[in-house]
Amino acid sequence: MRFVTTIIIGAGQSGLAMSRHLTARSIDHVVLERGEVANSWRTERWDSLRLLTPNWQSRLPGYAYDGPDSDGFMAMPEVVRYLGRYADVSGAPVVTGTRVTKVRLAPGGYQVSTSQRPWQCRTLVIASGACNIAAIPSQTAGLRHTVNSLTPMQYRNPGVLADGGVMIVGASASGMQLAREIHASGRHVVLSIGEHVRMPRTYRGRDIQWWMDAIGAMDVRYDAVEDIERARHLPSLQLVGTPERVTIDLNSLRKSGVELVGRLVGLGDGKAQFSGSLANNCALADLKMNRLLASIDDWVDENGFADRFPASYRYEPTDVGPKTRLSIDLQDSGIRTVIWATGYRPDYSWLDVPVLDRKGRIRHDGGIVAAPGMYVMGLPFMRRRKSSFIDGAGDDAADLAAHLSHNLDRAAA
Ligand SMILES: Cc1cc2nc3c(=O)[nH]c(=O)nc-3n(C[C@H](O)[C@H](O)[C@H](O)COP(=O)(O)OP(=O)(O)OC[C@H]3O[C@@H](n4cnc5c(N)ncnc54)[C@H](O)[C@@H]3O)c2cc1C
Repeated sequence: MRFVTTIIIGAGQSGLAMSRHLTARSIDHVVLERGEVANSWRTERWDSLRLLTPNWQSRLPGYAYDGPDSDGFMAMPEVVRYLGRYADVSGAPVVTGTRVTKVRLAPGGYQVSTSQRPWQCRTLVIASGACNIAAIPSQTAGLRHTVNSLTPMQYRNPGVLADGGVMIVGASASGMQLAREIHASGRHVVLSIGEHVRMPRTYRGRDIQWWMDAIGAMDVRYDAVEDIERARHLPSLQLVGTPERVTIDLNSLRKSGVELVGRLVGLGDGKAQFSGSLANNCALADLKMNRLLASIDDWVDENGFADRFPASYRYEPTDVGPKTRLSIDLQDSGIRTVIWATGYRPDYSWLDVPVLDRKGRIRHDGGIVAAPGMYVMGLPFMRRRKSSFIDGAGDDAADLAAHLSHNLDRAAA
């Protein structure tokens, strides 16, 4: 058994940012990682994926993008190299190839069993990721065995799919990007759409992420939001990072030939049934996008910056076409694969401390978990809107490291 003051579980950006802050505070710690640094980016993403956040926004404590294309979007091998270098330059004490298999309460802290040696610590930071498991709806059970079922974590490129058409369920960033790529490979694609967040890539001459950063939208705190539960469960933005800075929206997908249908409500007897709420969901998404654009316009005007940017404008409302199908016979329509782009969730199967609610979610207040000396990082809107993004890890780690350090000081006094 080895003893260390703090154990961080996971060497993604969250764990590495926390490690950097603990080092600055001279708190001895290790980062236990089941794979290698940036394991999720290495092993759980599809081949063509690029960040949807621009390179300049991959800011981490004491580290920033310094390459030649600060407005570009990193491909996965670049993200892996970027985080790998960060781990090196910050001297993060990462122990790779070490899977945490159990965390239990122990006198004065936690006992941590791993696939290697056991550890004990006084404080624990769970930075094991918010997207460990694809969240699949119960409808999968109604799928016939002749239809393949995949998640974005399993998908790599169109070449891995069985011949035939593809139904993608979910129109957030993952679903939209996969629909675009798979349709471009020459297949029929049906995209099933529920609540979604429409977002243009650029507005008034700037990237939308630049605007959200400028107006402070990404810094909004969790305790300043009326309905934080809802905010934490919003789908990801309909964005893609491409060198051409294309906007990906339902209009562009439909024009290219992707078939749009409503939210999947049933699957059985070889048939998929969809809700009739597609037009309403799209109208709501348009409304919300326009609200964001209006708040950008307000910020420009209030700051007297109108002459620095092109005049304001609005995008075409979403047009789902004259008629969308409410039911599809998968066999007759040639659909051979269903991809469940319905979100992700964390895996806490190794956590043997009573801190989970009845839905299996960790109970925390801005990352301070309801157990002494335990913290969590990287969850959606955990302390700020940007908490689950690369750019959000630094501020959250600074706050939580300060809290953790104060905790240790109090215990020592
Ligand atoms: C498809 C996709 C695209 C995204 N695109 C962007 C983007 O463009 N820009 C952006 O800012 N964010 C993006 N995100 C969101 C976010 O940045 C990533 O999810 C990121 O990986 C989260 O970093 P993290 O450090 O919190 O978790 P992770 O990167 O998931 O790191 C957690 C680490 O913990 C390890 N681990 C897990 N369980 C254990 C265990 N039991 N024992 C030991 N180690 C363990 C994992 O191997 C992993 O290395 C995207 C997310 C997804 C899913």
